[in-house]
Order: sequence, then C-alpha cells, then structure tokens
Amino acid sequence: MNAPSPPASQVKQHLIDPAVCIRCNTCEATCPVGAVTHDDRNYVVKPDVCNGCGACVPPCPTGSIDHWLQVLPGKTWSIEEQLTWDELPDGVPEARLDDPLPMAAAAASTPTAAAADAEGAPAPVGEAAPAAAPASAVHWSQRVPEFDLLGDGPAPMPIDVFGDGDGLGGIGGSDRLLGAAVAPRSAAAPVTNTFTRLAPAIARVVENRRVVAPHADGDVRHIVLDFGDTPFPVLEGQSIGVLAPGVDRHGRAHHARQYSVASPRDGDGGHATRVALTVKRTEADPVAGTPAGVCSNWLCDLAPGADVPVMGPFGHTFLMPDAPDARLLMVATGTGIAPMRGMLARLAARMPRRDGDADRHLLVYGGRTDAALPYADQVDAWRATGTAVVTALSRVPDAPKRHVQDALRDDAERVAEFIADPATHLYVCGLKGMERGVLDALRAIAGVAGLDWPALHARMRDEGRVHVETY
Ligand SMILES: Cc1cc2nc3c(=O)[nH]c(=O)nc-3n(C[C@H](O)[C@H](O)[C@H](O)COP(=O)(O)OP(=O)(O)OC[C@H]3O[C@@H](n4cnc5c(N)ncnc54)[C@H](O)[C@@H]3O)c2cc1C
Ligand code: SF4
Ligand code: SF4
Repeated sequence: MNAPSPPASQVKQHLIDPAVCIRCNTCEATCPVGAVTHDDRNYVVKPDVCNGCGACVPPCPTGSIDHWLQVLPGKTWSIEEQLTWDELPDGVPEARLDDPLPMAAAAASTPTAAAADAEGAPAPVGEAAPAAAPASAVHWSQRVPEFDLLGDGPAPMPIDVFGDGDGLGGIGGSDRLLGAAVAPRSAAAPVTNTFTRLAPAIARVVENRRVVAPHADGDVRHIVLDFGDTPFPVLEGQSIGVLAPGVDRHGRAHHARQYSVASPRDGDGGHATRVALTVKRTEADPVAGTPAGVCSNWLCDLAPGADVPVMGPFGHTFLMPDAPDARLLMVATGTGIAPMRGMLARLAARMPRRDGDADRHLLVYGGRTDAALPYADQVDAWRATGTAVVTALSRVPDAPKRHVQDALRDDAERVAEFIADPATHLYVCGLKGMERGVLDALRAIAGVAGLDWPALHARMRDEGRVHVETY
C-alpha cells in the first residue's frame, strides 16, 4: 500500500543534528550551491538555498546531515537560530530526503515565506502560515553576513557536482578531486556511529610516542587507544571522533575532533582491541595570533592509562578493497599517512606480496623533510608489501620544493598505467591544499597518456575507486 501523501501545506527543511555532527566541513566543501555554512560552533544549512540535491549526504561521516524536518512554508528555522542549537528541536516530524515534500527553498522564494521572514524570526512548525508579503520584503539571507568566524577562508565556490563540465576536467568540470560516494565494491561492511557524543566509548591510552624525528619541526604522535571489553570494530580508512574535556568559549562542551584510524582491522600491533591514531599537535601561532588546538594538544599530552571518550566509528566509503588483485595508488601528506598506514598493515598481514609484484601498489608520500615524515622508519616494511614508495619533500635546504603532485608528474608513465587499470583504487589524504595539485597532475598525466580524465574519474567514482579525505 502506498504511504499517505503528506499535507500539501508542509515543506521539508534540511537541518544538521548538532549533537552528532563532528564539524568536519565535508558537507560545506561538497555542497554544489553553497547552502552549508558554519561558525565556530555549528554547521548549518541555509533554508532558502538548499535544493535537496542530496550530494552532501553520502560523504557525511556521521549521518548528522541527513535530517529533513517538516515545517510550514515560511516557518523555517533561520541559520541564526540553528547556530545556537545543541540539538535538533524536539517533537518536529522528520521527513526523508526522498519524501515528496517540496524543499523549504522552493517556498522561500514565494511571497509567503518572505513575508514571514520580514516579520522576524521564523517559528517552528505548528503555527499558521503568514499572509502574503509585500514585494519589498527583505529575505533573511540578505541580512545575515557570510560566516567565516574561524577565518579559514571565503565561503566555498559552488562546484558542479552533477553538471556537464566546463573544461576544467574534474567531475562535471569541478575544480575539486571529488571522491566516491560509495565504497569499493569488494570492501568489507563497516560498522558506523555506534558511539555518540552523549554515549561515547571510553578507551584507554596504552602508547603515546613521537613519530617524527627528534629534530623535526612540530610534533606528530602515534597514540594507541585500547577499548578493552568495549567492542569497537574499525576498518582501515575509517575515523573516530575524540571528545576532549572542558568547554569552548561559549561554555559548551567541546565538539568532537575527527582522527583517521592508523591501524588495520586486526588492531594495532596485532592487539584486536587497539586502535592507533596519528595526531599532529596544532601549536599556537603567535604571528597569526591563533591559539593552540584543543584536542590535538590534549591527546598529544596524554600519558598511558588516561581515559579518552570516543565517538564513532565513522566512514563508509574511504575503505580498502578486499579483492586480491586490487591495486592501491595512495597519495598522502603529513598525518594523511594514517589511513595508508592501516591499509599497508592490512596488505602486510592479509594480502602477501606475490612474485613479480614489486610495484603492485604505489605510495606517494609528501612532507617538508625526511625527518618530518611520520613513520619514516616503516618505509622498508611498506615496500615489502609490494608497494613502491616515493617521497616528495618541500623544505630540503638547497633543493627545489617538491610536492606530491610533482612526484606524480615525475612518475607519469607509471601513474598513467595505474589510473588506466580498472583494478586501481586511488586514495588521497592529508592537507586540504594538496587536492587541487593532485587533480591537476592526474588530469595532465591522463591527457598525455590519451586517457579521458573526466570519464575515467567518473567511472572511478561510480565504482568506489577514488577516495579523498583532506582537512
Ligand atoms: C576527516 C578528517 C580526518 C582527520 N584526521 C586527522 C588525523 O589523522 N590526524 C590529525 O592530527 N588530525 C586529523 N584531522 C584534523 C583534526 O580533526 C583536528 O582538526 C586537529 O587535530 C585540530 O584540532 P584541535 O582541537 O587541536 O584544534 P582546534 O582547537 O579545533 O583549532 C583548530 C585551528 O583553529 C585555530 N583557532 C581556534 N580557535 C580560534 C580562534 N578563536 N581564532 C582563530 N583561530 C582559532 C587554532 O589555532 C587551530 O589552528 C582530521 C580531520 C578530518 C576532517
Ligand atoms: S542537499 Fe544539496 S543543496 Fe542541500 S546542503 Fe546538501 S548538497 Fe547542499
Ligand atoms: S559531520 Fe556531517 S554534517 Fe557535520 S560537518 Fe561533517 S559532513 Fe557536515
């Protein structure tokens, strides 16, 4: 039997659950129309901009973006209101993305919605819709400035996720290296979102050691958490949320910070209950006037025996294939090596190198200097898995700067062979700034090799063979 049709008077408003959201910025970076914004507390959706395309839903690691509340036209919650929330409003009926309700944005362009807005803050569902507005009504989005309170750059430019291209050569002409919304077909099924902010798992630190050379600038640490009797199954490529103690400048508990799992599914060092992280200490910058990072410093200073509240696990797409003939093309900078470390450990344990497989996989690993590369002492072990390891160093005295995209270009023939191979799975993880350079390099390499990069990229996305996690 068909479900009853919803009352025609209602619309659905796209909202983010602030109690679950880990503020990873994925939705804001993904949204093709710039409907997502944030302040230093919450990520929110502009009700008059979101068109319900759903592009942000699969990449969201927590599912917190998948909320569609039923409201009356003109009674949407403004972003100002959403930014004050600690949880979604009580007692409001939830819809689903595919429910046949119009989006609030459609109604927001009508005189009715504008009238409600001009009258003041919108109210929750349940109140009568306002009367038609005067033509001069000012919409809320004209009154609210763009939010960039963290000072991390301008609002994202709209990207053409499903469009038909503009010659830039990404998916549909995007200038971003978009990852897949699906996992590799052969990947194991991940467990996700078992533990929440309100009911976290409590893990215990069993190891905390520096994994960059003693003389390297900055501190990056290998931190191993033991979940003891609490089942916390993770797959390589997944991440967890860490809840540091204390409160933010609004007096509210710190939101969770996300960290990639750096160990394989069998646990760090063969201990099934242990999950490793690779954490870079975010130091205060007196020149920029920015404070030390809350969670990374807390974690990096923990001694063995300390308890750590953990959310998650997160992630259902950035996973490794379980097919024996799969090939991995991994591009990492800095702590972006964390998921690759987990995958390489999995390869070593469960997918032994076959004869003639010296370069079955390729890791392009970037950092400032050799000394600043986390886990540099494990490179030989990684090579023993049949992985060619190429480093790209950008701050070596008297040497030209070399970034991961330069290393890809220098190895163009091999990289072209990788991306042309339907068994190849591409993983890119690390600094946000690497994405564009890697995309440009892949596009150029594909072009020289006579490959149609937009078509190839699209096919890799469809098949869950390209995954990007930058932060
Ligand atoms: C998918 C994903 C995976 C990640 N994986 C890893 C990983 O494996 N390893 C890792 O180390 N990190 C990882 N991160 C980053 C991590 O989640 C944190 O963002 C990072 O550790 C910094 O958190 P923090 O609490 O220490 O810093 P925060 O306190 O969140 O501060 C972040 C930055 O904002 C600045 N800042 C804070 N307050 C202000 C203010 N009032 N004015 C101006 N500037 C301010 C700080 O100086 C700092 O530079 C990942 C992120 C994502 C999204
Ligand atoms: S549903 Fe589409 S338009 Fe709305 S926030 Fe998500 S990506 Fe943006
Ligand atoms: S957890 Fe989901 S809703 Fe929150 S910022 Fe990340 S992608 Fe957006």
